[in-house]
Amino acid sequence: MSTQPYGPRIDAEEIQSALEHHADATPTAIREVLAKALELKGLDDQDVAVLLSNTDPEMDQEIFATAAEIKTTIYGNRLVLFAPMYITNKCQNECKYCAFRASNKNLTRRNLTMEEVAQETRFIIEEGHKRILLVAGESYPAGEGLDYVYKTIETIYDTKSGNGEIRRLNVNIAALDVEHYKKLKACNIGTYQLFQETYHRPTYEYMHTAGPKSDYDWHIGAIDRAMEGGIDDAGIGVLFGLHDYRFEVLAMMHHARHLEDRYGVGPHTISVPRIEPAEGSVVTLNPPAPVKDHDFLRLIAILRLAVPYTGIILSTRENASIRRQCYNLGISQISASSRTNPGGYSEHDTSHDAGSQFSLGDHRTLDEVIADCLEMGYIPSFCTACYRRGRTGADFMDLAKPGLIKEFCQPNAILTVKEYLEDYASPDTRQLGEKMIKDSVEDIEKDRLKCDVCDRLTQIEDGERDLHY
Ligand code: SF4
Repeated sequence: MSTQPYGPRIDAEEIQSALEHHADATPTAIREVLAKALELKGLDDQDVAVLLSNTDPEMDQEIFATAAEIKTTIYGNRLVLFAPMYITNKCQNECKYCAFRASNKNLTRRNLTMEEVAQETRFIIEEGHKRILLVAGESYPAGEGLDYVYKTIETIYDTKSGNGEIRRLNVNIAALDVEHYKKLKACNIGTYQLFQETYHRPTYEYMHTAGPKSDYDWHIGAIDRAMEGGIDDAGIGVLFGLHDYRFEVLAMMHHARHLEDRYGVGPHTISVPRIEPAEGSVVTLNPPAPVKDHDFLRLIAILRLAVPYTGIILSTRENASIRRQCYNLGISQISASSRTNPGGYSEHDTSHDAGSQFSLGDHRTLDEVIADCLEMGYIPSFCTACYRRGRTGADFMDLAKPGLIKEFCQPNAILTVKEYLEDYASPDTRQLGEKMIKDSVEDIEKDRLKCDVCDRLTQIEDGERDLHY
């Protein structure tokens, strides 16, 4: 085990001065950074500060256009889909922006039983999902502790319904020590996510007043401990709205580089939740550093330029209109048909937000989201192949960097959307999807691959499932 302190060094003054130094960046300087970004090798802090400091709307349009070009070059027109599953809304922490915080008495608290977990899983499967993001507050049933989480993971993987199953389970739970990360890894998880919420220490301390999460250093070192526990597939993120988004983006880049330098692999994903009203939370009604829609688009585009091979995840916090605008700028994964309360899928609560962590902006069903993506020219993907074939961590990055994502991911998107159309789609969505499949197959350049994909599509029509590259 390393003797160095865990986590990146976040020097607030250094970040602030980089932003101020580039406040008057000229269009020429910005275009130089955009040209560098197009080499797909990522950007350094000074480059990112140049882009973040820009205030010229015309240059923003050039930033957006470059991000869109990079998104298409690397990811094609795919969007990977998942559903979050909240297994408990109990929590010992006091995060001012969260409805689950311990002192909030307005919430009905519960941990799902294993029967309820299986029931939720069946609902998610029957909608057509193949990926779940498991989410929990930091409080596990007495006498069980983290075994409760491990048992839940096993239950989700073991649950089947019709032709469906969950093939990849990502996890977003509180910071752990190395030994517990080893156990989590042994549960066959995909990505482990933990968001720093804010990298700005005084803001962090103001927002987190009690519980283990109130320790900034413990929290910021968590991904290091996860890596030392063998989890090489990690996701980071910020809750935008707590502090200046420009500071947060630069700090997040420090975190990403720290992981790459120390463990040879940067974050697999970056999440960009923006603060939304949460039950009884004054902070969420009046966020200290609200991020306007245009700035939200900017930060996504700049992340796409800065870390071109890192997935960017967008949740249903955002409404359908904003989500549509974000896809092109660099988003590679989206949640759909989400519930953020334990039991929210199977219990059909009509208010959607009862017992939830925060309010949602997009209440559409998975079928509606898929139809919308297809109409916009995106191919939805339920692919889980890399993780199941061991292409994770540095191996995944080696694969991604030469641009091979298209070789594996595009055919897998075609095959998994075909399964969705066969098993779950409405007639209208099926029609849109079949057209997308036809067009996508035609676009495959290598004849052998094209033939093979066609063969597999026929096999799926004949009832085969889970065919992947
Ligand atoms: S953000 Fe997480 S840790 Fe904080 S109160 Fe909510 S569930 Fe608990």
